[in-house]
Amino acid sequence: MTPLPPLAAASAAGAGFMAWAVRGRSSAVFAPSLWRGPRDRRALALTFDDGPSESTPAILEILARHNVPATFFQCGANVERLPAIARDVAAAGHEIGNHSHTHPYLFLRSPRAIEDDLRRAQETIEARTGARPVWFRAPYGVRWFGLRAAQRRLHLTGVMWTAIGYDWKSGPAEVVARMRARVENGAILCLHDGRELRPKPEVRVTIEALRLLVPVLLDQGYSFEKLNRLLCPKN
Ligand SMILES: [Zn+2]
Repeated sequence: MTPLPPLAAASAAGAGFMAWAVRGRSSAVFAPSLWRGPRDRRALALTFDDGPSESTPAILEILARHNVPATFFQCGANVERLPAIARDVAAAGHEIGNHSHTHPYLFLRSPRAIEDDLRRAQETIEARTGARPVWFRAPYGVRWFGLRAAQRRLHLTGVMWTAIGYDWKSGPAEVVARMRARVENGAILCLHDGRELRPKPEVRVTIEALRLLVPVLLDQGYSFEKLNRLLCPKN
């Protein structure tokens, strides 16, 4: 992740609050947002951002081998590029979330631009996969003014994460160790099956980490759920 532009003309305390408001996993300042499920069940959700990519099928294969479902936060532009892979994700029974169309920083964008980007992703995902997302994950975890109204109009709820793998800059063992240290009942784990809008992204670390992590978590007694079940247990 690249650093955000400085928050000009804010006091140190104000800047600290704004930094949390914009990027904090538990912040719902700009829009409703969840970052974990209930702690009363030994269940967790695997989520993958930035797909679909050429590597998504390798991830689907690992999930299928262990018979575990996941939620994929897809970018509309990647869905346009690889519609068949996007469809395969839905056809395999996984859930699809909205991760924007062009993966922009929402920071300092106009409410109109934010809504247009989210809407374009929503329409593209639905047209190409038949799935209409109900969850939105903000690119870079950055939320901004205007997101609340955009989410409301598109019937989306924001979802951050309990644990993020830093799988774009770590080795597989580190990713696994980080996830194991943070996993708990109701955890939402964030990994990546793509790299923003890049074609043929390098995601070998994610694939290898997933291969190691899923059996360990199953051994620990966790069940894997899509977000629509983890966050709404009556589904
Ligand atoms: Zn992303």
